[in-house]
Amino acid sequence: MSAHRPRVVILGGGFGGVYTALELERALGRRDDFEIALVNRENYFVFQPMLPEVISGSIGLTDVVNPLRELLPRTELHVRDVESVDLDARRVTTSPGFRPHAHHLAYDHLVLALGNVTDFRGLPGLPEHARPFKNLGDALGLRNHVIRALEEAAVEQDDPELRRELLTFVVAGGGFSGVEVVAELNDFVRAAARRYRGLDPAELRVVLLHSQARILPEMDERLALFAQRLLQRRGVELRLQTRLQAASGHEALLAGGERIATRTLVSTVPALAHPLIESLPLPKSKNNKLVTQPHLAVAGRDDVWALGDCAQVLMPDGTPAPPTAQHATRQAAVVAHNVVAALRGGRRRIFDFKGLGTMGSLGHRSAVAQVFGFALSGFLAWWLWRTVYLLKMPGWGRRLKVATSWTLDLFLPPELVGLRFAGSRGISREHYEPGEHVFRAGDLGDRLYIILAGEAEVLRAGAQGEQVVARLVAGQSFGEMALLNQTTRNASVRCARSLDVLSLPKQEFAVLAAHLPELRQSFERLAAEREAAGGAREGHDAH
Ligand SMILES: Cc1cc2nc3c(=O)[nH]c(=O)nc-3n(C[C@H](O)[C@H](O)[C@H](O)COP(=O)(O)OP(=O)(O)OC[C@H]3O[C@@H](n4cnc5c(N)ncnc54)[C@H](O)[C@@H]3O)c2cc1C
Repeated sequence: MSAHRPRVVILGGGFGGVYTALELERALGRRDDFEIALVNRENYFVFQPMLPEVISGSIGLTDVVNPLRELLPRTELHVRDVESVDLDARRVTTSPGFRPHAHHLAYDHLVLALGNVTDFRGLPGLPEHARPFKNLGDALGLRNHVIRALEEAAVEQDDPELRRELLTFVVAGGGFSGVEVVAELNDFVRAAARRYRGLDPAELRVVLLHSQARILPEMDERLALFAQRLLQRRGVELRLQTRLQAASGHEALLAGGERIATRTLVSTVPALAHPLIESLPLPKSKNNKLVTQPHLAVAGRDDVWALGDCAQVLMPDGTPAPPTAQHATRQAAVVAHNVVAALRGGRRRIFDFKGLGTMGSLGHRSAVAQVFGFALSGFLAWWLWRTVYLLKMPGWGRRLKVATSWTLDLFLPPELVGLRFAGSRGISREHYEPGEHVFRAGDLGDRLYIILAGEAEVLRAGAQGEQVVARLVAGQSFGEMALLNQTTRNASVRCARSLDVLSLPKQEFAVLAAHLPELRQSFERLAAEREAAGGAREGHDAH
């Protein structure tokens, strides 16, 4: 122990990190013999089990979060991204905030609780078009997107294909979070559609994709089958033994070649180890989680501790603890106890928790639960689910708010406010699969596209229908003429070979063109060349 007051630095403000800090604050009591610091990306704690309810708005957006400063008054909070950890120098570096300077945080004990990440690498189009469902931003983003899709569909009378895409909602992953998300989403769109004069609820399609033979593999087969039947009865289309392979902005591609046309794809799989954890020179399991000793110090270290979804913690029977909040909070109590024992002296505890059971909400006053060896389903399980999670939420104020929202939700119709944030569709990457249109002749010129990989073909209407008049590859751009000339597209662009593009909205392009004269001139030159070639070949250009 160093001469100064030792400092415990916790990385991650989820279930593992926050409950470790809570326990450490409790252990501090009236003493002041160590410092606690916590680094988290957000200044709030997210109660993830209730996140799916944000989709339907059955609880308020801010009711699933707790401000960390209120929860942890004696902890020094750093709302920043963890950049790196130097285990030899016992130092954490966080990324810059308002000023680009590195910030170092020295520690005596380090607690790693960074959770896992949704990682779509290796699945073409998913990073660009699939929505993860892990944090508050994901839940809010999905709710807004779904409301927007319903609004668009309600007035889309010209394009039946687009209308179908807008009214099809696909969720991939039949574990707890996927099932809870699809149940809430299904309830929400079906209740909301009744409030649009231009929508027929029969047009809605909600699909759950799952790679195994039954959903909820963590649960008893009987309960999982109950959940399947219930979801189907409520209109969810179950696609079992079906794997999502790729995606574009218009469709979900399944292994085997089938395509589901949709504008809304949520994927709750795969969750991978956190990249920062992967980068640390510490022992890891096959799935890149930190290997811990029974008292939760990382194997081979006595100053680094790990818990929650980023750690492989063995249960008393030798199997790894599942990545759940109930396990993370129990591990937090063990880590805090043992860190205090290391600082003040005392016996260490080992992690010995078998789990109390599992519960999953199926929306609309139904759930499945397996607790203390009993299997429950339907209303009773739902009541238990709500009561248990309500009591587990930190803070009485929050519990009261959630209970009030739930009560009102029993009587009131869903709220259909879709928030729009400035610049929410700024510069973005998009992926297209062969045959998909990026835009069609006659569309409004709203974006410029730069090809990163793949091939696009430019089509123009001629006497014999649409003809390919040019092919564009990586390093080339398209869509500039409609932006420069403020007109509509005079040609269509279609993906010829799996296409990745960077797309720039009209407003951003206008600012760049106004402030970088050379850029504007080069696009004007390109446009002029294409126009000339287009005249000769009837349309090399795609405005
Ligand atoms: C939709 C959903 C529903 C769930 N439902 C249940 C349920 O009903 N019951 C149950 O027991 N479990 C449930 N879980 C699982 C449970 O939430 C997790 O097991 C639990 O959150 C794990 O805790 P953790 O502390 O390891 O990670 P997390 O809670 O994910 O916390 C990790 C924290 O680290 C922060 N972080 C990550 N990287 C950085 C960085 N570089 N810099 C700064 N901060 C960073 C994140 O912002 C986050 O706050 C659910 C999960 C989800 C996604």
